[in-house]
Amino acid sequence: MSTIFTQIVEGEIPARIVYEDETTVAFLDANPLAPGHTLVIPKDECERLNDVPADVATDLYDTIHRMVPAVEDAVDADATTVAFNNGEVAGQEVPHVHCHIVPRFEGDGGGP
Ligand code: 5GP
Repeated sequence: MSTIFTQIVEGEIPARIVYEDETTVAFLDANPLAPGHTLVIPKDECERLNDVPADVATDLYDTIHRMVPAVEDAVDADATTVAFNNGEVAGQEVPHVHCHIVPRFEGDGGGP
């Protein structure tokens, strides 16, 4: 059984994809903590950060690096919280590595 994020990669369920390349994809979170909340994932299914092959980890970082300013610009955020929940105990609900990019605004009073 593939993860819900693999189903997004394969176009089996809809998502608002905002960036895609050979190995990574970025899409809007379905239950955003703030407008513009974006997830960046490797296309290949990896449960935890250390399961991601080194070359894909580099691609993942490049996409995060590209998306942080794009997300900030899109919603005129003051900053972003950029985070991985790595493992169930840490709050990871979807067992497919994903980086949260959560726009932050002056006085918003808290992060993820
Ligand atoms: P986690 O708690 O695993 O770090 O975060 C999982 C995130 O995936 C949550 O913020 C949740 O809203 C988001 N999410 C779960 N299912 C879907 C889905 O089907 N589509 C999209 N776009 N986001 C999802």
